[in-house]
Amino acid sequence: MIICPNCNLGRLKENKAGLFCDNCDYVLESKNGVLSFIDWNEEDLYYDKEGIEFLKKFESDHFWFRLRKELILSKFLKYFAPDSKILELGSGTGDIALSLKNLGYDVSIGEFHLNGLKYAAQNGIKKAYQLDILKNPFKNHFDVVGFFDVLSHIEDEKKAVKNIVDSVSVGGYVIGTFPAHQWLWYRGDRVINNHKKRYEVKEIKSLFEDAGIKTIEAKTFFVGLLPILLIRSLLKKDDASCVKEHEKKELNASINPIVNKIFYYFLKLELLLLKKFSFKVGGSILYIGQKI
Ligand SMILES: [Zn+2]
Repeated sequence: MIICPNCNLGRLKENKAGLFCDNCDYVLESKNGVLSFIDWNEEDLYYDKEGIEFLKKFESDHFWFRLRKELILSKFLKYFAPDSKILELGSGTGDIALSLKNLGYDVSIGEFHLNGLKYAAQNGIKKAYQLDILKNPFKNHFDVVGFFDVLSHIEDEKKAVKNIVDSVSVGGYVIGTFPAHQWLWYRGDRVINNHKKRYEVKEIKSLFEDAGIKTIEAKTFFVGLLPILLIRSLLKKDDASCVKEHEKKELNASINPIVNKIFYYFLKLELLLLKKFSFKVGGSILYIGQKI
Protein backbone atom coordinates (compact mmCIF):
# COMPACT_ATOMS: atom_id res chain seq x y z
CA MET A 1 0.00 0.00 0.00
CA ILE A 2 0.95 3.64 -0.44
CA ILE A 3 0.38 5.85 2.61
CA CYS A 4 -1.17 9.28 1.96
CA PRO A 5 1.44 12.03 2.52
CA ASN A 6 -1.36 14.49 3.37
CA CYS A 7 -3.19 12.76 6.25
CA ASN A 8 -0.69 9.93 6.94
CA LEU A 9 -3.68 7.64 7.58
CA GLY A 10 -5.38 6.86 4.28
CA ARG A 11 -4.13 4.74 1.45
CA LEU A 12 -3.51 6.12 -2.02
CA LYS A 13 -5.43 4.32 -4.75
CA GLU A 14 -4.88 4.61 -8.48
CA ASN A 15 -7.19 6.44 -10.87
CA LYS A 16 -6.64 7.92 -14.34
CA ALA A 17 -5.27 11.27 -13.09
CA GLY A 18 -2.84 9.74 -10.64
CA LEU A 19 -3.37 8.64 -7.03
CA PHE A 20 -6.14 9.61 -4.61
CA CYS A 21 -6.49 9.11 -0.85
CA ASP A 22 -9.36 6.91 0.41
CA ASN A 23 -9.45 8.89 3.66
CA CYS A 24 -8.96 12.63 2.99
CA ASP A 25 -9.66 12.92 -0.79
CA TYR A 26 -6.13 14.21 -1.39
CA VAL A 27 -5.11 13.79 -5.05
CA LEU A 28 -1.54 13.25 -6.19
CA GLU A 29 -1.56 14.17 -9.87
CA SER A 30 0.80 12.71 -12.41
CA LYS A 31 2.89 15.40 -14.14
CA ASN A 32 4.96 14.39 -17.19
CA GLY A 33 4.58 10.78 -16.08
CA VAL A 34 5.93 11.48 -12.57
CA LEU A 35 4.07 11.26 -9.24
CA SER A 36 5.81 13.59 -6.82
CA PHE A 37 5.80 13.08 -3.03
CA ILE A 38 8.16 15.99 -2.49
CA ASP A 39 8.41 19.52 -3.76
CA TRP A 40 11.96 19.65 -5.06
CA ASN A 41 13.10 20.62 -8.53
CA GLU A 42 16.44 22.28 -8.05
CA GLU A 43 18.50 22.61 -11.22
CA ASP A 44 21.05 19.86 -11.10
CA LEU A 45 24.24 19.81 -13.15
CA TYR A 46 24.18 16.03 -13.62
CA TYR A 47 20.51 15.85 -14.50
CA ASP A 48 20.01 18.73 -16.90
CA LYS A 49 19.54 17.74 -20.55
CA GLU A 50 23.26 17.64 -21.29
CA GLY A 51 24.07 15.90 -18.03
CA ILE A 52 21.56 13.12 -18.67
CA GLU A 53 22.86 12.52 -22.20
CA PHE A 54 26.42 12.37 -20.81
CA LEU A 55 25.40 9.96 -18.04
CA LYS A 56 23.46 7.72 -20.44
CA LYS A 57 26.48 7.43 -22.73
CA PHE A 58 28.79 6.84 -19.78
CA GLU A 59 26.49 4.12 -18.40
CA SER A 60 26.28 2.31 -21.73
CA ASP A 61 30.03 2.56 -22.51
CA HIS A 62 31.98 2.34 -19.26
CA PHE A 63 33.05 -1.15 -18.19
CA TRP A 64 32.16 -0.49 -14.54
CA PHE A 65 28.52 0.42 -15.26
CA ARG A 66 28.08 -2.28 -17.90
CA LEU A 67 29.39 -5.09 -15.71
CA ARG A 68 27.61 -3.92 -12.57
CA LYS A 69 24.36 -3.94 -14.56
CA GLU A 70 25.09 -7.39 -16.01
CA LEU A 71 25.71 -8.72 -12.48
CA ILE A 72 22.50 -7.14 -11.14
CA LEU A 73 20.36 -8.46 -14.02
CA SER A 74 21.80 -11.97 -13.60
CA LYS A 75 20.83 -11.93 -9.91
CA PHE A 76 17.28 -10.78 -10.76
CA LEU A 77 16.92 -13.68 -13.21
CA LYS A 78 18.33 -16.11 -10.65
CA TYR A 79 16.22 -15.12 -7.64
CA PHE A 80 13.12 -13.13 -8.62
CA ALA A 81 10.04 -14.41 -10.49
CA PRO A 82 9.40 -12.74 -13.88
CA ASP A 83 6.12 -11.09 -12.79
CA SER A 84 7.67 -9.55 -9.61
CA LYS A 85 6.70 -6.01 -8.67
CA ILE A 86 9.97 -4.10 -8.44
CA LEU A 87 10.96 -0.70 -7.05
CA GLU A 88 14.36 0.70 -7.93
CA LEU A 89 15.34 3.49 -5.56
CA GLY A 90 17.85 6.12 -6.66
CA SER A 91 17.22 5.11 -10.27
CA GLY A 92 19.08 8.07 -11.85
CA THR A 93 18.44 8.02 -15.59
CA GLY A 94 16.51 4.72 -15.27
CA ASP A 95 19.21 2.68 -17.04
CA ILE A 96 18.89 -0.43 -14.84
CA ALA A 97 15.10 -0.03 -14.46
CA LEU A 98 14.61 0.00 -18.25
CA SER A 99 16.70 -3.16 -18.61
CA LEU A 100 14.59 -4.83 -15.88
CA LYS A 101 11.44 -3.75 -17.69
CA ASN A 102 12.78 -5.32 -20.90
CA LEU A 103 13.22 -8.57 -18.97
CA GLY A 104 9.47 -8.46 -18.22
CA TYR A 105 9.48 -7.16 -14.63
CA ASP A 106 6.78 -4.77 -13.39
CA VAL A 107 9.13 -1.87 -12.62
CA SER A 108 8.57 1.31 -10.60
CA ILE A 109 11.28 3.84 -9.88
CA GLY A 110 11.85 6.20 -6.97
CA GLU A 111 14.32 9.07 -7.14
CA PHE A 112 14.99 12.52 -5.72
CA HIS A 113 15.98 14.12 -9.03
CA LEU A 114 12.92 15.07 -11.08
CA ASN A 115 14.71 15.32 -14.44
CA GLY A 116 16.05 11.77 -14.20
CA LEU A 117 12.53 10.52 -13.45
CA LYS A 118 11.00 12.45 -16.34
CA TYR A 119 13.62 11.05 -18.67
CA ALA A 120 12.93 7.46 -17.52
CA ALA A 121 9.15 8.05 -17.77
CA GLN A 122 9.52 9.31 -21.34
CA ASN A 123 11.49 6.19 -22.13
CA GLY A 124 8.82 3.76 -20.98
CA ILE A 125 8.84 3.47 -17.17
CA LYS A 126 5.14 3.74 -16.26
CA LYS A 127 5.44 4.31 -12.51
CA ALA A 128 7.94 7.03 -11.63
CA TYR A 129 7.86 8.47 -8.09
CA GLN A 130 9.77 11.52 -6.93
CA LEU A 131 10.49 10.80 -3.30
CA ASP A 132 12.87 11.09 -0.41
CA ILE A 133 14.14 7.67 0.66
CA LEU A 134 13.92 8.90 4.28
CA LYS A 135 10.14 9.50 3.89
CA ASN A 136 9.33 6.54 1.65
CA PRO A 137 5.47 6.26 1.48
CA PHE A 138 5.32 2.54 0.55
CA LYS A 139 4.31 -0.15 3.07
CA ASN A 140 4.53 -3.87 2.20
CA HIS A 141 4.08 -2.85 -1.42
CA PHE A 142 6.81 -4.45 -3.55
CA ASP A 143 8.18 -7.95 -4.16
CA VAL A 144 11.69 -6.56 -4.63
CA VAL A 145 13.34 -3.24 -3.78
CA GLY A 146 16.67 -2.50 -5.46
CA PHE A 147 19.16 0.29 -4.59
CA PHE A 148 22.42 0.33 -6.49
CA ASP A 149 25.16 2.49 -4.94
CA VAL A 150 22.47 4.58 -3.25
CA LEU A 151 22.80 4.06 0.53
CA SER A 152 26.39 5.31 0.42
CA HIS A 153 24.97 8.80 -0.33
CA ILE A 154 22.74 8.91 2.75
CA GLU A 155 23.74 10.09 6.20
CA ASP A 156 20.89 8.39 8.11
CA GLU A 157 21.45 4.91 6.68
CA LYS A 158 19.47 3.12 9.43
CA LYS A 159 16.33 5.11 8.65
CA ALA A 160 16.81 4.50 4.92
CA VAL A 161 17.22 0.75 5.51
CA LYS A 162 14.09 0.70 7.70
CA ASN A 163 12.09 2.44 4.96
CA ILE A 164 13.43 0.08 2.30
CA VAL A 165 12.48 -2.96 4.40
CA ASP A 166 9.03 -1.46 5.20
CA SER A 167 8.29 -1.04 1.50
CA VAL A 168 8.93 -4.76 0.77
CA SER A 169 6.16 -7.35 1.32
CA VAL A 170 6.89 -10.17 3.79
CA GLY A 171 8.73 -12.86 1.83
CA GLY A 172 9.94 -10.22 -0.65
CA TYR A 173 13.54 -9.26 -1.33
CA VAL A 174 16.04 -6.43 -1.12
CA ILE A 175 19.03 -6.17 -3.47
CA GLY A 176 21.74 -3.51 -3.34
CA THR A 177 25.29 -2.62 -4.29
CA PHE A 178 27.78 -0.57 -2.26
CA PRO A 179 31.28 0.89 -2.61
CA ALA A 180 33.60 -1.37 -0.61
CA HIS A 181 36.10 -0.69 2.19
CA GLN A 182 36.73 2.64 3.86
CA TRP A 183 40.48 2.07 3.25
CA LEU A 184 39.75 2.56 -0.47
CA TRP A 185 38.29 6.02 0.19
CA TYR A 186 39.73 8.65 -2.14
CA ARG A 187 39.07 12.30 -2.89
CA GLY A 188 36.57 11.53 -5.67
CA ASP A 189 34.33 9.58 -3.26
CA ARG A 190 33.46 12.88 -1.65
CA VAL A 191 34.01 15.31 -4.50
CA ILE A 192 32.60 13.41 -7.50
CA ASN A 193 30.35 10.72 -6.05
CA ASN A 194 29.12 12.59 -3.00
CA HIS A 195 29.60 9.46 -0.87
CA LYS A 196 29.28 9.56 2.91
CA LYS A 197 31.23 6.34 3.38
CA ARG A 198 32.37 3.01 1.91
CA TYR A 199 31.17 -0.29 3.41
CA GLU A 200 32.28 -3.68 4.76
CA VAL A 201 30.27 -6.88 4.02
CA LYS A 202 29.59 -7.65 7.69
CA GLU A 203 28.44 -4.07 8.29
CA ILE A 204 25.82 -4.33 5.52
CA LYS A 205 24.71 -7.73 6.78
CA SER A 206 24.06 -6.43 10.29
CA LEU A 207 22.32 -3.28 8.97
CA PHE A 208 19.77 -5.40 7.12
CA GLU A 209 19.56 -8.32 9.55
CA ASP A 210 18.78 -5.87 12.38
CA ALA A 211 15.91 -4.55 10.23
CA GLY A 212 14.32 -8.01 9.73
CA ILE A 213 16.10 -9.33 6.64
CA LYS A 214 17.61 -12.79 6.18
CA THR A 215 20.85 -12.60 4.17
CA ILE A 216 20.92 -14.63 0.95
CA GLU A 217 24.09 -13.32 -0.66
CA ALA A 218 26.63 -10.80 0.62
CA LYS A 219 29.91 -10.61 -1.21
CA THR A 220 32.48 -8.40 -2.84
CA PHE A 221 32.97 -8.04 -6.58
CA PHE A 222 35.34 -6.10 -8.88
CA VAL A 223 38.19 -7.79 -6.99
CA GLY A 224 40.44 -7.30 -10.04
CA LEU A 225 40.14 -3.53 -9.62
CA LEU A 226 41.69 -3.61 -6.14
CA PRO A 227 45.30 -2.70 -7.08
CA ILE A 228 44.10 0.32 -9.06
CA LEU A 229 41.65 1.42 -6.38
CA LEU A 230 44.33 1.08 -3.75
CA ILE A 231 46.81 3.17 -5.76
CA ARG A 232 44.05 5.71 -6.37
CA SER A 233 43.33 6.00 -2.66
CA LEU A 234 47.04 6.62 -2.01
CA LEU A 235 47.61 9.10 -4.86
CA LYS A 236 44.34 10.96 -4.47
CA LYS A 237 44.01 11.08 -0.72
CA ASP A 238 41.07 13.06 0.59
CA ASP A 239 42.41 16.02 2.57
CA ALA A 240 38.84 17.39 2.95
CA SER A 241 39.73 20.57 1.08
CA CYS A 242 37.51 22.32 -1.44
CA VAL A 243 37.74 21.34 -5.03
CA LYS A 244 38.29 23.55 -8.02
CA GLU A 245 36.35 23.00 -11.26
CA HIS A 246 39.42 21.89 -13.26
CA GLU A 247 40.23 19.28 -10.64
CA LYS A 248 36.67 17.99 -10.79
CA LYS A 249 37.07 17.51 -14.53
CA GLU A 250 40.39 15.75 -14.00
CA LEU A 251 38.93 13.39 -11.38
CA ASN A 252 36.00 12.72 -13.69
CA ALA A 253 38.12 12.14 -16.80
CA SER A 254 36.87 9.69 -19.40
CA ILE A 255 38.55 6.35 -19.94
CA ASN A 256 40.63 5.33 -22.96
CA PRO A 257 38.44 3.05 -25.17
CA ILE A 258 41.06 0.28 -25.41
CA VAL A 259 41.68 0.28 -21.66
CA ASN A 260 37.90 0.25 -21.20
CA LYS A 261 37.59 -2.86 -23.40
CA ILE A 262 40.45 -4.68 -21.63
CA PHE A 263 38.90 -4.02 -18.22
CA TYR A 264 35.49 -5.10 -19.48
CA TYR A 265 36.67 -8.56 -20.57
CA PHE A 266 39.05 -9.01 -17.63
CA LEU A 267 36.36 -8.24 -15.05
CA LYS A 268 33.71 -10.17 -16.96
CA LEU A 269 35.88 -13.21 -16.39
CA GLU A 270 35.98 -12.38 -12.70
CA LEU A 271 32.17 -12.20 -12.54
CA LEU A 272 32.06 -15.72 -14.01
CA LEU A 273 34.49 -16.91 -11.32
CA LEU A 274 32.36 -15.21 -8.67
CA LYS A 275 29.57 -17.68 -9.37
CA LYS A 276 31.76 -20.34 -7.72
CA PHE A 277 34.00 -18.38 -5.38
CA SER A 278 33.67 -15.53 -2.96
CA PHE A 279 36.34 -13.10 -1.88
CA LYS A 280 36.89 -11.07 1.28
CA VAL A 281 37.88 -7.88 -0.52
CA GLY A 282 36.87 -6.05 -3.70
CA GLY A 283 35.89 -2.71 -5.18
CA SER A 284 32.16 -3.14 -4.56
CA ILE A 285 29.73 -5.22 -2.51
CA LEU A 286 26.55 -6.99 -3.59
CA TYR A 287 23.85 -7.69 -1.00
CA ILE A 288 20.66 -9.74 -1.43
CA GLY A 289 18.27 -10.55 1.42
CA GLN A 290 14.72 -11.70 2.09
CA LYS A 291 12.17 -10.10 4.44
CA ILE A 292 11.09 -12.64 7.08
ZN1 LIG B 1 -5.07 11.30 3.00
